[in-house]
Amino acid sequence: YESYVDALLAVLARPDHPPARPVIVAADRTVGARALHAGIHRAARLLAARGVTRGSTVALLTGNHPEALVARYGANLLGARVVHLSPGSPAAARARILESTGAVLLLVDPATRDLPTGTPEPLRLVLDPGLFTDGEPDRHPVTPPAAVRPEDDWCLRFTGGTTGPPKLVRLSHGPYRRMLAGHAAHFPSGASVRFLACTALAHVAGIAADATLLAGGSVVVQEGFDPAGVLAAVERYGVTDLWLLPPLLHELLDHPDLATTDVSALRRLFYGGTPASAARLRRAAEVFGPVLHGSYGQTETGPISEVLPHEHTVTGPGGRVTAGRPLPGVDVEIRDPSGMALPPGSTGEVHVRTPTAMAGYWGRPEPAGAAAVPDGWTATGDLGLLDARGYLHLVDRLKETVIVVGAHLHPAEVEEVLHAHPAVARCAAFGISAADGDEELHVAVVTAAGRAPDAARELGAFVTARLGAAYEPAAIHVMDRLPLTEAGKPDKVLLRSRYGGGADPA
Ligand code: ATP
Repeated sequence: YESYVDALLAVLARPDHPPARPVIVAADRTVGARALHAGIHRAARLLAARGVTRGSTVALLTGNHPEALVARYGANLLGARVVHLSPGSPAAARARILESTGAVLLLVDPATRDLPTGTPEPLRLVLDPGLFTDGEPDRHPVTPPAAVRPEDDWCLRFTGGTTGPPKLVRLSHGPYRRMLAGHAAHFPSGASVRFLACTALAHVAGIAADATLLAGGSVVVQEGFDPAGVLAAVERYGVTDLWLLPPLLHELLDHPDLATTDVSALRRLFYGGTPASAARLRRAAEVFGPVLHGSYGQTETGPISEVLPHEHTVTGPGGRVTAGRPLPGVDVEIRDPSGMALPPGSTGEVHVRTPTAMAGYWGRPEPAGAAAVPDGWTATGDLGLLDARGYLHLVDRLKETVIVVGAHLHPAEVEEVLHAHPAVARCAAFGISAADGDEELHVAVVTAAGRAPDAARELGAFVTARLGAAYEPAAIHVMDRLPLTEAGKPDKVLLRSRYGGGADPA
């Protein structure tokens, strides 16, 4: 079986791939094709010498650095799975993950402090810059001790943690290779592609990085998202591809440097992961041109199951942008609570069947004989409908529906309305439990520059004028900055605990 790492090694060694051409570009170094090829083997050798083998778990506690990417390739070449620990998570939580995943090795940044403590700690390796990528090409490439199989895990990936504690999803090599191939078929690219990884490589940016390198392109690695830095990198490196969650896209659109930055190299700007505002996407299309591609997916289905090329103008109920049409090989059904498939136009739970689905949740083995994904269909927990043309329109997450005096309210609709208001820079709507099992609708708002905070007062009326009296928010909280999860989504768990009277979960 040829894993995605084997395929990547073959691409890097291709005779038409200039050995010195930079394929990874970071602030302090560039890595050429030959150096990356050697680096992957060097990483595999270093990890193998520390006991990593097929089926091992290797934990990474690192920011975005070339060495972290190469470490994953080395581990996956050996048939080991990787799990990324979030640098922002409490040490005790990390220690629990190390223990429950049986990690044999922990890879950390030189700057990492606050290491996991307590439980038996695995061996630790510090990823000094250049550890794998500097040095002479190896004369003796690593031959993995055991062949990787399609059903082997390549990673354990946390879900976004939007609706509760993140779940650890097992993703295996076969589906991952299919997902990368599907992406390549849909978005043909080549050596001219330059992808900017400005969000955590542990999430979608890592997948986009893999897709780019496999296509012979190059990846610019930035430590984290900062709008000025992203704009500077787009101009400086001629970035062609970007992947952003809508809250980050909003930050980019609002940044004063945008007016003076040359963004003409940009060819594809992918957005997804959380609802995108139609008004903001229109603005993005004015600024960046016809480069927008929506995507919808879940960690469980392989994060990209539907894509919407150039069609952010397709809208559905409430003027909201569609989540796209299924990619080839992906089926979508809308079902009622009894599991019955509903006809076009009816709202129900979105179910997705895809060849890229997860192998299951880590630590929750399926009962004997049962599949992790029954019949291959994943219940997404999203509420939506298919229109007559096959476009999926999301209404909201089922779990986020707010029930106020019997009325079912959808925070995503409130956000769509508010994002069109000139005083609103960013917002998130969410439910707070009230007395007698009822709920209240709350909204957190960051007001646009130059707008007095009391602009918030008019927002309630703005919402009810468009969505009806039931949608009157019980409270509008003006904040300086909307808290985001590590994945870049509005952190509603934190908002709920902050405004629901509980303590912040951090
Ligand atoms: P958790 O499952 O831990 O609560 P999460 O649902 O955010 O977190 P992910 O797998 O990262 O975990 O996100 C998948 C969800 O993100 C989808 O089920 C959907 O609700 C939302 N989503 C993804 N893409 C889009 C999109 N284009 N538009 C609207 N929502 C989206």
